[in-house]
Amino acid sequence: MQQVSDASRSPGYDPAPTNSRALIVDSIRSAGTVSRVELTQITGLTAPSVTTLVRRLIDDGLVDEAGRGSSTGGKPRTMLRIRAAARYVVGVHLSADSLTYVLVDYAGAVVARWRRAGPGDDSDPEQVVERIAAETTELIERSGVDPSLVLGLGFVCPGPLIRNRGVTSAPPSMTHWVGFPIHRRLEERLGLPALLENDATAAAAGTRLTTSHDVSVMAALFMSEGIGSGLRLNGNVYQGAHGNAGEVGHICVQIGGPQCWCGSTGCLEAIAGPATVVAKARAAGLDLGSPRRTGVAAFAAIARLALTGDSRAEAILRDSASWLALGAQTITNMYDVQLLVLTGPAFAVAGTIYLPIIQERILSSAFGRAVNTEVVLDERGHDAAAIGAALMMLRSDLAISA
Ligand SMILES: [Zn+2]
Repeated sequence: MQQVSDASRSPGYDPAPTNSRALIVDSIRSAGTVSRVELTQITGLTAPSVTTLVRRLIDDGLVDEAGRGSSTGGKPRTMLRIRAAARYVVGVHLSADSLTYVLVDYAGAVVARWRRAGPGDDSDPEQVVERIAAETTELIERSGVDPSLVLGLGFVCPGPLIRNRGVTSAPPSMTHWVGFPIHRRLEERLGLPALLENDATAAAAGTRLTTSHDVSVMAALFMSEGIGSGLRLNGNVYQGAHGNAGEVGHICVQIGGPQCWCGSTGCLEAIAGPATVVAKARAAGLDLGSPRRTGVAAFAAIARLALTGDSRAEAILRDSASWLALGAQTITNMYDVQLLVLTGPAFAVAGTIYLPIIQERILSSAFGRAVNTEVVLDERGHDAAAIGAALMMLRSDLAISA
C-alpha cells in the first residue's frame, strides 16, 4: 500500500498518473525511497516492466539509485529516489490582495517562495498576466535554477471555475476575471504549460500532513478572502466534475439570510467570511489601519487586535468561528474525515482563535465524534494553495512526460 502519512514525501494530488512511466515516477516521489520489488507491489506492474521503466528513468536523469535498503531475507534491495534537481515547477496563488509564488523541485520540495502584494480590486487581467510572467521569471532567476528545467506552472485563484477554461464568476474584487482565459494567456506569455485550479482544492494538495498516523480521508478547510474546502482521498485530491468540489462557503446555513456575491442567500461565507468580519469590525469602529486596506490584510488587522486583547475584535472573530465550525462539521459528517486541516492565508493569521472553537464543535457534535476527527492548523497555511498548484502541475501529464 502507498503510504500517505507524510505529505513532504507523499504529496498526494490529482490528476492521477495515466501511464506506466508516470505511475512509477509518482510512486517513487510518494514513497521517498523505494525498491524495485516494492514498486511492483505498489503499481501492479510486472517486475520486467518496472526494471525497464526504471532503467529509462535513470538514463534520463530523473531517478537515482540511493544505496541499499533493509531486506526481509536474501541480499539487501537497491533503493530508488527522485533526482530532486532534475526538473522544477512553479505554483502561483492569485487573490486580490496577495500573490504567492513557489518553486518546487522534482521531488516535491519547495526550493523558493515569494509573497507579494496583490493586484487589488478592479485589476486589469492583461496587466496582471504581464506582472505574473515577469515575477515568475524573476523567481526562477533568483533561485539559480536553469530555466530550461522548469516544466510548467500551476495557477490557482478563487472559484468557481471551469477547469482549463477560466473563471465563471468571481468575488466582487475580481469581477474582471470572469471569462478571462488566465492560464492560456500565461502559457503564451511564459512559453510553459499552465494548469488552472481552484484555490481550496489546491490547498488540500499542498497541505503537509503533520500527524503520526496514516490518513486515508483528509479535508482542508480553506480561508483566504473567501471560504472553501478540499478533500484528499488515499492521497488523491478530489476535484469534482468541473473543479468546484467542496464549496462549503456557499452552503446555505440561514434561510432568508444575507445576499451572497455568488447569487444565493444565507451562504456561510456571506454570514461569517472575512469580508463580513471586516465589515462588522469597521461598523464597530475598530481601527484597521488604512481604510483602503481590504481582504486578508484587513482581516489580519482584526486578528492582531484580538490577539493583543481587544475584546470587540475577539468577539467578532469568535462569532465567525462558531459559524465556520458548522462548515467543518458538515465536511466531517459528509466524508467521515480522519484529519481536518485549517489552511489558507486567513487561518494563517487568525487560526489560533478559530481552532479551539472548531475542535470543540467536532468533538461535541460531529456524527462520528466517537472516533475523534483530528483538527489541526496548517503550519504553511499562507503558501498551501501555491504549493498545491505546483504539486498538481508536477503530477500532471504535462510535466510527467518530460
Ligand atoms: Zn454564496
